[in-house]
Amino acid sequence: MRSHRVRRREFCIAAGAFALAPRVARATGGLDQDAETDASMRVLLASGSFVPAQPIDAWHFAWDGRTYRGSFSIVRLPDGRAGLVNALPLDAYLYGVLGKEISPSWSPAAQQVQAIASRTYALGKIRPERLFDVIAAESDQHYGGIESESVECRAAIDATAGRIVTYAGAAARVAYSACCGGRTADAAAVWKTPVPYLTSVEDPNCSGAPNFAWSVAIASGDVAFAFRPRADLGTLRDVRVESFGAGARPLGITFVGTSATFEASAADVRTALGPSIVRSTFVRSATLENGGATLALAGTGRGHGVGLCQWGARAMADRGADAAGILAFYFPGTALGRV
Ligand SMILES: [Zn+2]
Repeated sequence: MRSHRVRRREFCIAAGAFALAPRVARATGGLDQDAETDASMRVLLASGSFVPAQPIDAWHFAWDGRTYRGSFSIVRLPDGRAGLVNALPLDAYLYGVLGKEISPSWSPAAQQVQAIASRTYALGKIRPERLFDVIAAESDQHYGGIESESVECRAAIDATAGRIVTYAGAAARVAYSACCGGRTADAAAVWKTPVPYLTSVEDPNCSGAPNFAWSVAIASGDVAFAFRPRADLGTLRDVRVESFGAGARPLGITFVGTSATFEASAADVRTALGPSIVRSTFVRSATLENGGATLALAGTGRGHGVGLCQWGARAMADRGADAAGILAFYFPGTALGRV
């Protein structure tokens, strides 16, 4: 998912055995449902130069050491490069997403939460006028084909078939990240786009997530270099976290250099310095140390923090919450609806 995104890779587990059989029988998973969708997804697997895909049968193909459901085609992207696109039914796509997003060891309710969130996200990305709908990467949702599937993730997708998050009777725009850091982010603070159900909620559920708190020290010269395309700071002299907005996240971080002063959002700082270095938008402090030679950042969480907190959902599910209750907590004002 957008945003989604550098997050949660540390607990992605690729499934072992898989079957090329079609869908498994559905369990209800406690969710009344009888609706399925005939929606299909077109997933951009690769662009530029890539190894060729090989058909296996009418419904499966092999590419780059993995096996995929559906068909593939080569398209010419607007920038002139070639693209490898996998077309397949929506829920078959979700089979290859879920195991990349959370571990099969998570409880059925946590699996169902992710299934519904990923389905809702995917439906919102369908763009018939384009050559593909989603990218098989963090900018949309990671997708690994059949080797990423598990019995557990397929069961969750089947149990929630046709179910999506809705707001005011229409499909919601959902977002999720690995760990919100103790309070989810307001979409307006991270993306400058207010969304009525992507508001900040206090989240006591994710404090047990791995690497909940983080800190990093970065050479000031590297910081100035990272921002050089946008501002020539010169030598970094001061850094300030500007007032904290909705979601308790900084509204901006100001970098004062000998040549210029530059204010960036926490999301921009993540992008510039790298999302694996600045792990979340929940930056709690930023100071210069070692006589100005080092920028020290500290924060909590992993990812952008907007919407569903995956580790918080896991903890809620372990305490007995069901998928509907968990989704209502992270997307206030929404309901579960049908495709
Ligand atoms: Zn959280």
